[in-house]
Amino acid sequence: MEFVAAKALAELTSAEIERAVAGKTLIWPIGGIEQHGPHLPLNVDSLIPEALSHRLAAMIDGFYLPVQPFSARSLPQSGGGLLFPGTIYIDGATFTRYLQRTLAGLCRLPFKRLVIINGHYENEAFIFEAIDELNGNGALGDRAVTAFSWWSLVPDAWIAANLPEFPGWHAEHAGITETSLMLYLHPDLVRSERPDHPSPPMAGIYRLPLDRASASTQGVLSRTTGSSATLGKQLFNLVMDQMMTLLEHRQNDE
Ligand code: ZN
Ligand code: MN
Repeated sequence: MEFVAAKALAELTSAEIERAVAGKTLIWPIGGIEQHGPHLPLNVDSLIPEALSHRLAAMIDGFYLPVQPFSARSLPQSGGGLLFPGTIYIDGATFTRYLQRTLAGLCRLPFKRLVIINGHYENEAFIFEAIDELNGNGALGDRAVTAFSWWSLVPDAWIAANLPEFPGWHAEHAGITETSLMLYLHPDLVRSERPDHPSPPMAGIYRLPLDRASASTQGVLSRTTGSSATLGKQLFNLVMDQMMTLLEHRQNDE
């Protein structure tokens, strides 16, 4: 698929940047490197928010930042955890501090609004904490911030109509939504072996010793059956629409 030309913050020069971003929106996709079953690459949680960021930057004449590639710890009930090779994580305290310091550095630029799009389930609380700390110490100034995980924008009615046996977003890991989005955005990266997992883990319960077999099938936490590029395109456009509505509301509040 093709994207409309969007502007990359990192491709500006130092001489250009202050004038270019003055009064504009910056968009930061935050992802991860985490196992995603036998069929998806490690960077699914980066590629999805990156694609949304590029599209959004083009639509609102903003600038996207480079995707944050590493993430908070993957947990067995929401990402398969560290049982699988290739999952790379940062502990929560370091990750929160990193986000806070990076955002503080960014706030030296005269932009107006920051949008953060998260693609990795376990990141969310740390992103919100970093923003809250910055707000508390005044580093954000009067800038507006809207931060969310992309799946939080999907309405319940769409889930009911399109995702039979929806297991909860914690277990939509390497399942029908991520597989469909990848079939739409990066079909060349999706392999053909796509197992289902018949007993998705429950949210909010952590048990040791870990029952590896009941947690996932080869790192897939729910079902992949029904995944398609068509569904992925529909979901991508839905999230884009919801994102525009969210940001317009936010502007009206200012
Ligand atoms: Zn994922
Ligand atoms: Mn993840």
